[in-house]
Amino acid sequence: MKALEEKIAKEGQVFPGNVLKVSSFLNQQLDTAFLKEMGAEIVRLYGDSGVNKILTVEASGIAIALSAAFLMNVPVVFAKKGNSKNMTDEKYSAEVKSFTKGTVNTISVDREFLSSKDKILIVDDFLADGNALKGLLAIAKAANAEVVGAAIAIEKGFQGGGDELRKMGVRVESLAILDEMTDSTIKFRPQN
Ligand code: 5GP
Repeated sequence: MKALEEKIAKEGQVFPGNVLKVSSFLNQQLDTAFLKEMGAEIVRLYGDSGVNKILTVEASGIAIALSAAFLMNVPVVFAKKGNSKNMTDEKYSAEVKSFTKGTVNTISVDREFLSSKDKILIVDDFLADGNALKGLLAIAKAANAEVVGAAIAIEKGFQGGGDELRKMGVRVESLAILDEMTDSTIKFRPQN
């Protein structure tokens, strides 16, 4: 998505440890008009897939998930991050290593919100090593829900998580893929 690449180039800030901050439109301030455009792009990619629910993880996946969900007229379920003390048999859970914090979180969804009747699209803001996405896939699998694929705003392709999942047969569509990122340059993977 050309407009997203331009926005990343203009407003993105690179921090140590391969962290890209896009706080001006996605990670702190939310640019609602631009979120709507990203939502529309997700609908272009997945609008005919029969999705009845979007699954994401708190906190920063929620905005883009909601934007696509409004246009698809489906609910959003977001996995909550918490510690295992709060876990019960009433939840589907997965362990996810946080890329930005380095800690391991348990993410979970109450069983009442996912089932074998669901056809799910997973949406998130970033894809790096793929751990968050793998955790959400594990939760969907535990619920016997069908996953049509994932839609990601920004994939850091040089970290390999997205391509690993594609090789495993998961449909992963990212609105912008970064193949290289340094303090002074960001190179995008050409896309159709
Ligand atoms: P992964 O699990 O694929 O390694 O990382 C994806 C998760 O980590 C996303 O849910 C996102 O919140 C966070 N994340 C990974 N890389 C970045 C980054 O460069 N910038 C920001 N803001 N979040 C990131």
